[in-house]
Amino acid sequence: MARLLINGEFRNSSSGEISWIRNPANTDEKVDSVPVATVDDAKEAIESAKEGFEKWAKISPPKKGAILLKIAEVLRNNCEELSILLTKEHGKTLSESRKEIKKAANRLTFYAGLAPQISGRVSLLEGLKKYFTVIKEPYGVTAGILPWNVPVTKFVAYIAPALAAGNSVIVKPASTAPLTLLKIGEVLTHLNLLPKGVLNIVVGPGNTVGEELVRNSEVSKIVFTGSTESGMKVSSLAGRHFKHVSLELGGSDPMIVCEDADIDKAVKAAVISRFRMAGQVCMAVKRIFLHESVYESFREKLVKEVSKITVGNGLDPRVSMGPLHNREQLEEIEGQVEDALNKGGTVLTGGMKPKGKEFQKGYFYLPTVIEQPSLNSRVMMEETFGPVLPLNPFSTIEEAIELANSSVFGLTGSVWTRDLKKAHMIMEELQVGTVWVNNRHESITEAPFGGVKKSGIGREFGKEGLEEFLKTKTIVINNE
Ligand code: NAD
Repeated sequence: MARLLINGEFRNSSSGEISWIRNPANTDEKVDSVPVATVDDAKEAIESAKEGFEKWAKISPPKKGAILLKIAEVLRNNCEELSILLTKEHGKTLSESRKEIKKAANRLTFYAGLAPQISGRVSLLEGLKKYFTVIKEPYGVTAGILPWNVPVTKFVAYIAPALAAGNSVIVKPASTAPLTLLKIGEVLTHLNLLPKGVLNIVVGPGNTVGEELVRNSEVSKIVFTGSTESGMKVSSLAGRHFKHVSLELGGSDPMIVCEDADIDKAVKAAVISRFRMAGQVCMAVKRIFLHESVYESFREKLVKEVSKITVGNGLDPRVSMGPLHNREQLEEIEGQVEDALNKGGTVLTGGMKPKGKEFQKGYFYLPTVIEQPSLNSRVMMEETFGPVLPLNPFSTIEEAIELANSSVFGLTGSVWTRDLKKAHMIMEELQVGTVWVNNRHESITEAPFGGVKKSGIGREFGKEGLEEFLKTKTIVINNE
């Protein structure tokens, strides 16, 4: 059985309650059990992180960087074992799990390099008689509330900059995908890489353990990644307690394909961007707008490319798309597709669970392309967190921009054109945090990532990701 990690010790829940993590590809298969933490466990983790912060503060920034490098090595050295566990608990393919873990290791390396570079500034008011300095300080105890879709990515997006900035961390993974993170915590603890209490991992319900982390006065900074609905709750609770909060939320990310685009490249990018991890990626392409002159050829090539995707158990090397992560996710997707069909959409491929005995015990859904669902259908209005791609035509750039921006979300978007002027016009107008031009939707460690509108507040990755974990203090010196 996996254990919580509090104050460098592996613990059961104070209530003794456990839950089983099952393989989404075959729900008869129990992967492991995990303790269900209580509010008291969360409070203990907070106390532990308070002590951990004091110890971490005594370690110099270069040494902190060196420790982050060692954590990166741990991920690389244990990549295979961790990837198998991640695939079993999440459902994504083994190759997707390996990529996630290797990229996470590279991200730790990036923040290891930034740890010794944290600096402030000095401004002279009257020479050395009177001046002020601006210094950057860690918050202290921080908490990261994480989703199930990319557990290792989000774990590292939180702990790497938080630790580099000098904070202690409390990780609350999603209850349905905590095992890989607990395993990483276990390996790091056995290697004694971090002082006790610097890294804590508690698995428990959002409305008890999660809310305690947000509410507790000892926690100074909250990082939340998840749905916009839960983000609103976290944000309002954090607001009541004057907590600094970063929110990485959902998206309904548009892709605009102009008449002069390289259609073959755009189709390949659309397929990777929409169907990897069975479409359960915040920055995935979720709505495609095609210039009417390329609509037919794009549609034909897209359907051909999508038909090459092999659905199945992510551990099978022949499989390119695993199941959805849980029953709610599958039912949500089925409901969104049904709604799209009721509102004028036509299924070009997919639109159902795959047939066959091997799919019966898992949350499988075929990669699906839907033509011209109404603009007020759920797939066009909501976040579609699964392998469903709606296509709609446009005739002018202004129309494409209006369609792309007609969403409450503003996470990412992309534009495909060979015309630089057109690309500039669209990238300036899109109401999103990241725009890719002739590039598939992918996050880059060195570049800031985050949303506008209902997709979030704050940025992760890049130097901006580090800034999220630093407070600013101004000191005015009068030497007269
Ligand atoms: P979710 O909102 O259901 O849960 C996320 C986390 O919040 C879990 O750990 C959950 O236990 C916790 N939680 C839920 N209610 C809470 C509350 N009231 N107080 C404190 N914690 C609470 O989201 P999910 O289904 O796990 O993840 C999928 C969502 O995450 C999608 O919407 C996806 O777009 C989003 N996401 C966004 C990004 C990004 O960077 N923008 C990245 C990954 C996932």
